[in-house]
Amino acid sequence: NKGPGVFEEEIEKIEDALGITTVEKAVAWAQANSMWPDTFGLACCAIEMMSIVSSRYDISRFGMERFSSSPRQADLLIVSGRVTHKMAAPLRQVYDQMLEPKWVIAMGACASSGGMFNNYTVLQGVDKIVPVDVHVPGCPPRPEALMEGIIRLHEKIKAGLPPAYQIRGVAQ
Ligand code: SF4
Repeated sequence: NKGPGVFEEEIEKIEDALGITTVEKAVAWAQANSMWPDTFGLACCAIEMMSIVSSRYDISRFGMERFSSSPRQADLLIVSGRVTHKMAAPLRQVYDQMLEPKWVIAMGACASSGGMFNNYTVLQGVDKIVPVDVHVPGCPPRPEALMEGIIRLHEKIKAGLPPAYQIRGVAQ
């Protein structure tokens, strides 16, 4: 006997084959394939982040070639580098100005946890001030690792999982 999980998988295969989908799935597909990143390059990790727009990595394959310099026209915040306490308020302001739905990637050890900078000037993880959807490990992560993080985020969106701020609430 096939369990309900297998049955649902079979239904999905039939839907895919026939091109049938739901409005939610279509919206999630569109959101995942046309994200506009706002950049928050703060340190060495930002150099690796910038290279994902180059022809070698070609982020335009995912509809993401347009990095926005305005948070109001971006729905993905890539925090690449260490965040000082002084920079925390501007970062939060940028996040608040982004329209929903929106997502955050913490790129590298510093953005994720403060990294080697365990001192009084550096925020010990950007998730203390914004809800993070994906952490990308490394010091610095290679562009391939960032691409992996972006693909994981796409998978979450396509699977219908809510953004982190809907799960954890927005830190104050
Ligand atoms: Fe620089 Fe490493 Fe920190 Fe990235 S994780 S900002 S490469 S020290």
